[in-house]
Amino acid sequence: MGLNVIILGGPGAGKGTQAALFALSHGLSKISTGDILRQGVKDRLPKVLLVKEKMDRGELADDDTIIEIVQDRLGRSDTSRGFVLDGFPRNVAQAHALDSIMEKRAKGALLIVDIVVPNEELARRLSSRRICSVCGMNAEPLQDPKAACQRCRGVFVSRTDDTEAVVLERLRIYSDETKPLVEYYGDRPTFFTVDGKQAPEQVALELNNLIDTAAARSSTVVMEAQGEANR
Ligand code: AMP
Repeated sequence: MGLNVIILGGPGAGKGTQAALFALSHGLSKISTGDILRQGVKDRLPKVLLVKEKMDRGELADDDTIIEIVQDRLGRSDTSRGFVLDGFPRNVAQAHALDSIMEKRAKGALLIVDIVVPNEELARRLSSRRICSVCGMNAEPLQDPKAACQRCRGVFVSRTDDTEAVVLERLRIYSDETKPLVEYYGDRPTFFTVDGKQAPEQVALELNNLIDTAAARSSTVVMEAQGEANR
């Protein structure tokens, strides 16, 4: 059965960092729609260039484009054992689309973790965030500003959408469009929250425990159901 994980949370909550750690430790692919779009802008893909202005303003790209990107990406063979989604879904329409994709895949349930961080803390984090201009990795919060990226030796820069005005817009859109996902997923037994104000290592530990326990429980349920069916 696949391990299909969604990491939810506001901009700056640590979704990308946690998704990368979890994907690495479980041998899964991390799928970040933000990374795919930023790469698409670098590669000058026409479809992505059409949404660049929205990205620069901190608005969401249109659902059709994003859903098509995710559908294509989830069709690749490296997701056959599961995936870790970072930055998708971002609204209820995208969550519906993901549910339809999952029904057709029939490879296990979605496990959803919401990393909870208050808006004031998100704004503070975004104003000091820097990413590698080459590979996109986040700099450590206290890292020497002149240090190069440990992974690829690239230079760290601020993201173009981390300016104060754009950050405010991204937080507004998060509250209006993405937070309703907590209600959408909240009743599912596979929905969990983690306190994202903790140190990243502690967030990673809790997230691992929650997902591993839930995955073990859901595979037991499937095995029991198969046992019933075979009787
Ligand atoms: P992120 O790196 O996840 O903060 O995404 C950066 C920007 O890419 C967002 O501010 C949006 O403009 C766009 N984007 C990323 N994921 C999505 C999505 N699921 N739906 C719509 N727009 C997205």
